Amino acid sequence: MDTAKRLPKWILALLLAFVAVLPRSDGFSAQARHFSSGCTSRQEIALTFDDGPNPPYTEQILDILSARGARATFFVVGAAAESHPDLVRQEVELGMAVGSHSYGHSEELARMGPDDFRQDLQRAEAVLAPILGKKPSLYRAPYGKTGAVILEELRRAGYVSIGWDIDSGDWDNNTTTEQIVENVLSRAHPGGIILLHDGGAGEGNPNRTATVEALPRILEGLRERGLEPVTVSEIIAPSCP
Ligand SMILES: [Zn+2]
Repeated sequence: MDTAKRLPKWILALLLAFVAVLPRSDGFSAQARHFSSGCTSRQEIALTFDDGPNPPYTEQILDILSARGARATFFVVGAAAESHPDLVRQEVELGMAVGSHSYGHSEELARMGPDDFRQDLQRAEAVLAPILGKKPSLYRAPYGKTGAVILEELRRAGYVSIGWDIDSGDWDNNTTTEQIVENVLSRAHPGGIILLHDGGAGEGNPNRTATVEALPRILEGLRERGLEPVTVSEIIAPSCP
């Protein structure tokens, strides 16, 4: 008798527990999806540029990309976008994707609680949304450091987290142009996400001459391999493994 009365509660509890671990109907789970690479049946690859906008390198990179009909994704720092909104506008006008790379690029972000992280996310969003004409949906954590707090806040705010699987090494100012080209082309594959920088928010040195010099050779090499540079959004989907 008692058991029979309690049974529905047990069933309810089990059902709730089961539903909590199920993926949401939109294909994303309780934490934002994190993509280190994309998935595509086409011969496509994604170039990403972090830490800008940062004159004159951002303009130089945009010139090189647009002259060659290549698309890329720029993960911009909110504070830098505030100083150079025209450069972000130019990125959008040239068909590039723009994602958030936090407001202040703080090393502390990964250790912050949800409230402080959310504050930084919203501050960047307040700068970017009016320029983009919509809320950004791509986020790259500074230094690539994500965690449960960050991923949960990103999901709540409607972002996906984007990492990389091809590190050009250009964040280290000792990396030569030659090495940047080699690091990218030796690891290039369909669905790959390439890490490059047009700014230097985290490392303090914003000189991106080596990256600018490497870019035409990278684009040439990718196309020799039959790989088309597209935006990150074009190679990620909830169905990616
Ligand atoms: Zn960065």
